[in-house]
Amino acid sequence: MSRPTVLISGASIAGPTAASWMAAAGWDVTVVERFDHLRDEGQNVDVRGNGREVLRRMGLEDAVRAHHTSETGVACVDADGHPYATFPAGTDDVGGVTAELEILRGQLSRIVYDHSAGSAEYLFGDRITALHDDGRGVDVEFAHSPARRFDAVVIAEGSRSRTRTLVFPDTDIDELGLLAVYATIPRTPGDDRQWRVFWGGRGRLVHVRPDNVGSTRAMLSLQSDVRGLDRLDRADVVTVLRETYGDLGWETPRILAALDDAPLYVDQIARVRLPTWHRGRVALLGDAAWCAGPFGTGTTTALAGAYVLAGELGATPDDVPAAFARYESTIRPLADRAQARVLPRHAHPRARWQQSLLRAGLRIAAGPVGDALGRIPALDRTPPADAIALPDHGALTRAA
Ligand SMILES: Cc1cc2nc3c(=O)[nH]c(=O)nc-3n(C[C@H](O)[C@H](O)[C@H](O)COP(=O)(O)OP(=O)(O)OC[C@H]3O[C@@H](n4cnc5c(N)ncnc54)[C@H](O)[C@@H]3O)c2cc1C
Repeated sequence: MSRPTVLISGASIAGPTAASWMAAAGWDVTVVERFDHLRDEGQNVDVRGNGREVLRRMGLEDAVRAHHTSETGVACVDADGHPYATFPAGTDDVGGVTAELEILRGQLSRIVYDHSAGSAEYLFGDRITALHDDGRGVDVEFAHSPARRFDAVVIAEGSRSRTRTLVFPDTDIDELGLLAVYATIPRTPGDDRQWRVFWGGRGRLVHVRPDNVGSTRAMLSLQSDVRGLDRLDRADVVTVLRETYGDLGWETPRILAALDDAPLYVDQIARVRLPTWHRGRVALLGDAAWCAGPFGTGTTTALAGAYVLAGELGATPDDVPAAFARYESTIRPLADRAQARVLPRHAHPRARWQQSLLRAGLRIAAGPVGDALGRIPALDRTPPADAIALPDHGALTRAA
């Protein structure tokens, strides 16, 4: 009997992880990625709880740990760089503003891609242009490759997925009004191993974080009603940032000066909430299904979702819709709890009094009272990372 076939669209974190597990479950796997290479942009992502358990079951936890960014915690600093609140990195699977396991997104993507590459076919530089699900299979057309038929299709294209609209034309995503610009800048002797954050007022934050490749990761995050900044070309983004951040002190002038030459990744953060993640033989996975925004849940949930999806398809390859329904009911509690997190505007105060309030809260949260009460939510990116009991997919779990 021929093996069932699955097409996965998107090769970042969710896609390659699902590819590994689907291959282990006995499926023929094809992955299509619209870029012509594996993307290495992005900065620190954390892996916690259920996501970490998936890496463990893949035998990849040590490889990820070997790429740790070396960040030791978070320091909230004033305009002179003096810390007024500090938070150490977590010491277990789930805790800490900085997680115990932090890695650059591009490095994690490379690790899960390498793990899958021998058992899945990758089509880089291509994308789906049409899908027709007749109930027994899905006919797929591509921009460049010849049309093919698959038993199942998984869309793991991130929060602004285009293919999603072919299947869920009414998808409405919540624009959160947060622009995040990630820049890789030269490291200087003053850069330590902490994630340093400066609240600049008027919705502006400046972040500086260590990495494991000898550079420094800077992020400018801006809460703004202006839309479409992510669609500007690079020179215009740099001009807008220099206008918007030009009056701020601390490390801001250094970051702005480095922008001309720095690798940049610009993201306008959105939240994705859908009543269902599957239709017929097509399912959504990762940020394309449940992007919760910027608070550190995306990678953990993508890993867990990929594992559960593959396990369910492996259990009933002849009943794809039933497998998708079980996948959704298992993962939804994890995704829903991530969605309920604080909104970015709470962490990006505009008015001076809001900023003073936030700073007082951070001081309290960093002290003994904060330990007793739990950290305040504005800075606490700790996702509900172990919200579900990850199923044991039996032989599949042991095979991967
Ligand atoms: C370049 C990049 C940088 C990032 N940087 C950070 C960061 O610094 N910090 C952080 O917390 N999170 C970052 N993220 C988001 C983080 O990776 C996700 O929140 C999380 O890991 C879930 O991943 P995902 O695989 O579901 O989606 P994503 O990581 O968003 O990946 C989606 C993938 O699908 C591809 N794709 C999109 N459209 C199509 C299409 N039509 N056809 C085929 N392929 C398509 C994209 O090129 C990408 O490779 C970044 C994502 C990307 C793509």
